Amino acid sequence: MLRWRSCVLYFKSLKGYAFYSTNKLNGIKNTRHRNVTDAFVKKLCSVIGQENVNTSLAVREQCGADEGYHGTSPADVVVFPQSRDQICEIAKLCSSFSIPMVPRGTGTGLEFGVGAIFGGVCIDLRHMSSILEVNEEDFDCIVESGVTRKSLGSHLRSTGLMFPIDPGADASIGGMVSTSASGTNAVRYGTMKENVLNLEVVLADGNVLHTAGPTRRTRKSAAGYNLTELFVGSEGTLGIISKVTLRLHAVPQMMVSAICSFPTIQNAVQSVVNILQSSIPMARIELLDEVSMAISCSYSNLDYPLTPSLFLEFHGSEESVKNQAEEVEEIMKIYQGSNFMWSTSIEERNKLWKARHEIFYAILAQKPGYKVVTTDVCVPISQLTKMIVKTKEDIMNSGLLGPIVGHVGDGNFHTLLLYDPENEKEIEMAHTLENRISRRALLLHGTCTGEHGIGVGKMSFLEDEMGQVGMQVMRSVKQALDPQNLMNPGKVLKLLF
Ligand SMILES: Cc1cc2nc3c(=O)[nH]c(=O)nc-3n(C[C@H](O)[C@H](O)[C@H](O)COP(=O)(O)OP(=O)(O)OC[C@H]3O[C@@H](n4cnc5c(N)ncnc54)[C@H](O)[C@@H]3O)c2cc1C
Repeated sequence: MLRWRSCVLYFKSLKGYAFYSTNKLNGIKNTRHRNVTDAFVKKLCSVIGQENVNTSLAVREQCGADEGYHGTSPADVVVFPQSRDQICEIAKLCSSFSIPMVPRGTGTGLEFGVGAIFGGVCIDLRHMSSILEVNEEDFDCIVESGVTRKSLGSHLRSTGLMFPIDPGADASIGGMVSTSASGTNAVRYGTMKENVLNLEVVLADGNVLHTAGPTRRTRKSAAGYNLTELFVGSEGTLGIISKVTLRLHAVPQMMVSAICSFPTIQNAVQSVVNILQSSIPMARIELLDEVSMAISCSYSNLDYPLTPSLFLEFHGSEESVKNQAEEVEEIMKIYQGSNFMWSTSIEERNKLWKARHEIFYAILAQKPGYKVVTTDVCVPISQLTKMIVKTKEDIMNSGLLGPIVGHVGDGNFHTLLLYDPENEKEIEMAHTLENRISRRALLLHGTCTGEHGIGVGKMSFLEDEMGQVGMQVMRSVKQALDPQNLMNPGKVLKLLF
């Protein structure tokens, strides 16, 4: 039953990208998974309640898609657990019936992590959305994994504390842990890796793991292996995260936003390298090339020069923020930065960052019906100028529209490669470019993904990035925790066991 698949995935072949239907994938790798049957669905209903189980095509399709270009690959059944114990029951049942499990947060991922490419059960965590504790004195909080970053932000507003990790979309905290998300604030506050203190995880067999030990929420720990970081970035392939203990930060006394324009992208990037090497504690440094500036200004109604620009933010006391802004302005002048404007107004600040966060949709709105391949490579800061300049040349030679935006303070940037999904040549060009950009990042000692994860599309880059021994260790970890390969199969690792 319920074996319908609409998804078509791109997988690399020697000749480039070939189309493989997921049915064909099932044939290749589905040997250890069993099909969902009516009897299995009945059992699910009996353990978590019929009202929390949905087999309608519309819901399955919606839950089998994310915000990336891959389309949808519906699970056979979607469940909406209300508690950790219900997740345990689901996992035990799936384990005993050898049914794949695909966890889902809010589906804002870009690498098809939520696509149920081998069918099975989609575990949608939207109802696990309680903020359980805010420990103001300790600067931490405990939340269920379905809490979204914006709802946590609103909840914390009256406390003087904040959780600064801000992927542009309103992602769930569990999804953010699973993709090791970051965003514009990472240059100052780190990524999810640096801001998760403990995780409650339901393992494939239904057992519950507390990665730092039950009830622990310390800033530091030297107790045994670092299981917390093992799960940060595991993309649902090792277990289902049910609860997250997060580190919080004090809201700074003052936040100042600024913008500066440059004659070329090299000048803009070189000034960032210089600013970082001067150890100025920047809160945000975002690059927009001239293409992104034109799109963003028109979409968000901004009136800035349409040249490569930096959006910046400074956090601190009134005096330190003023000193930082002046020092940065001086450095930018060396690189012919002009029109340096800064503001303490909350409205101006919100306007600037709203425009930055909306850029993905602004770009998509340029060509209705088109899709976008998003790259997210990250390189050491000394290699950033070379990396971005070469990428820009490649995009110009390709004929595709491909704006560049980036969290350049971390050496991380995105190209958004727009292509017509009906045009084979454009599809191939977008993926050829993606390949070239990722391989170049690896050559420059970087990573193929600074923040979106591996999903289904970057597995071959991961192999080059990690090397043979690294891949063997990852596969051994996977085998130890999920011997039946039921947790989000077909993602991150090509499995040999
Ligand atoms: C406009 C836009 C801007 C973005 N900007 C950024 C950015 O700046 N930085 C950035 O890092 N990302 C960015 N992203 C990507 C996305 O928001 C992040 O990857 C986010 O962390 C995904 O969270 P989610 O809840 O939507 O996860 P989903 O898309 O639902 O899932 C993502 C992966 O996590 C797994 N997963 C989800 N929840 C759980 C759980 N509880 N337990 C185990 N596994 C789970 C899923 O199986 C899947 O593999 C952006 C996306 C969009 C659309």
